[in-house]
Amino acid sequence: MSVKVRFAPSPTGRLHVGNVRTALINWLFAHKQGGEFILRIDDTDTERSTRENEDAIKADLTWLGLIWGSTFKQSDRFDMYAAAAESLKEKGLLYPCYETADELDRKRKIALSRGRPPVYDRAALELSDAEVTALEAEGRTPHWRFKLSGNRVEWDDLVRGTQGIETTSVSDPILIRGDGSYLYTLPSVVDDIEAGITHVVRGEDHVTNSGAQIEIFHALGGAAPAMAHTPLLVGADGQGLSKRLGSLSIGELAGQGTEPMAICSLLAKIGTSDAVEVRANLDELAAEFDFEKIARGSARFDERELDQLNAAIVHDMSFEAAKDRLAALDSRAADPDFWAIVRENCTRLVDAKDWVDVVFGDVATEVDEADLDFVRGAAAMLPEGEFDGETWGAWANALKAETGRKGKALFMPLRKAVTGRPFGPNMADLLPLIGRERVLERLGKL
Ligand code: GLU
Repeated sequence: MSVKVRFAPSPTGRLHVGNVRTALINWLFAHKQGGEFILRIDDTDTERSTRENEDAIKADLTWLGLIWGSTFKQSDRFDMYAAAAESLKEKGLLYPCYETADELDRKRKIALSRGRPPVYDRAALELSDAEVTALEAEGRTPHWRFKLSGNRVEWDDLVRGTQGIETTSVSDPILIRGDGSYLYTLPSVVDDIEAGITHVVRGEDHVTNSGAQIEIFHALGGAAPAMAHTPLLVGADGQGLSKRLGSLSIGELAGQGTEPMAICSLLAKIGTSDAVEVRANLDELAAEFDFEKIARGSARFDERELDQLNAAIVHDMSFEAAKDRLAALDSRAADPDFWAIVRENCTRLVDAKDWVDVVFGDVATEVDEADLDFVRGAAAMLPEGEFDGETWGAWANALKAETGRKGKALFMPLRKAVTGRPFGPNMADLLPLIGRERVLERLGKL
């Protein structure tokens, strides 16, 4: 059996870290199995779905490297959903209900006050023809519920192990709203059958849906696919993802200069038995992927870890790989020597821009009052000739001999005076890049 999975975002917003993790897990699994990854656009909610979001989702997935084999959108397939609904109606498994939202709310409250679960009471199944006619004469249009079997639905979840949903404990799900629009439940099953999806891999917020959907698969004459429900992401503190993180879009992360493989490495490894480490490409992540490694507990998403992984990628990035992006930042940054020296000080590649200013631009030099004389005098001790790898050592030695300063007291005032910062790449490497003229100019400003 060849594996076929789908990622099914609703284009009602941008992709964020939570739903990208679902996309990634689907992609890695398909890739490892030599299977197919399908992108399904769940746009049955025509009011809230936009073409713009759909395009952005596709652009974000492409940027991450999560390329799909084929794609389709649900709004092109309403005929198929209508046919499936008809077939369920014929089987007596889809029944019309006329309660208003208020009436349903009241029923729920009454059930709860009597200590009963707020499960729909199926009153609509008892309506006589005359009552239905009267309700319709009032102008009510029905919504349609799927009639659950009342049995326990079980499946062997690839992440959660044996799962069971008592269908008596949940309401018959509404598949079609009063205005005739479809909720996602039925279209998803119709599409999964039609596309031959072998594994439904999604967040654990869908576990209850799966109970109903497995019954709908069977009712429509299909076998239910295998299921895997992955734990949701939480923040670094173990609490639910903050609103900011929960909605942190891939577009924003990309805009901040985050590397796609930092995002993919983090999302593939958190909440698993593997160490959270950066991987060079998706193939490596796919080779290591296994549902068995995914823990049942929630996966912690920590932005600091994302920064660490990003820094690891940038520190290792070859000039060839960085060249075009450096050139886009500043033509002076597209220089192999410059990159070799500054990359270790960049968490994101865009941080190289700061170092362009330090090396080539104007820096605000700032030196403690007590070090001013020392630094002013240092200019006169600069070694002769063009700066090279030896210049810093020679300069520092000469100053040490002259002033008796050593260690931090010697180099920190010089670093601050020359670069405007108390940290950065080796001074021995930086000096030749900055060059005598700019060093003298900076020291002269003090
Ligand atoms: N559109 C659904 C969602 O984003 C898809 C769920 C599924 O994978 O079946 O939650």
